[in-house]
Amino acid sequence: LESGPDKIDYVFKVVVIGDSAVGKTQLLSRFAKNEFCLDSKSTIGVEFQTRTVNINSKFVKAQIWDTAGQERGALGAMLVYDVTKRQSFDHVARWVEELRAHADNSIVIALIGNKADLADLRTVPTEDAVEFAENQGLYFFETSALSGENVDTAFRKLLEEIYNVIS
Ligand code: GDP
Repeated sequence: LESGPDKIDYVFKVVVIGDSAVGKTQLLSRFAKNEFCLDSKSTIGVEFQTRTVNINSKFVKAQIWDTAGQERGALGAMLVYDVTKRQSFDHVARWVEELRAHADNSIVIALIGNKADLADLRTVPTEDAVEFAENQGLYFFETSALSGENVDTAFRKLLEEIYNVIS
């Protein structure tokens, strides 16, 4: 974790959206604090979390919200489904519509298939998500908030693409 720069060059607002129980809160605490909380809803009352990363020698503070209805002003979105819950993937198209209706046109969207550690319970093949992401122009990652696999990579990619869009 990079910590405590005196000077922040940019603040990027990012929203984490998707069906209930897909792991939005856990992804956020994994990225912001490198934690996975078994007591999941310990974040009640916290509106957003932040983490500052270095992109092209600039300090970029990601301000990340996992509460619904925060799309306004967001530069990026993590659209999360659960690879073990087909229904959460079937709803992804609706979440994209929601974003296109309520967020800025230039919003960068990453599709995230979370709980990749539960390989035996998988019901959403990677190829289905790859195809959807390509059709919709989304970045795509499979992650595990539990193991941490790909979580930093996915958030960093999103932040880098936002940086490319705005600079
Ligand atoms: P949210 O409602 O989308 O914010 O989902 P939560 O972050 O509260 O997670 C819902 C449940 O899934 C909790 O019991 C988490 O412990 C569990 N969970 C979240 N991410 C993962 C993951 O990557 N792997 C596994 N195995 N469980 C996860």
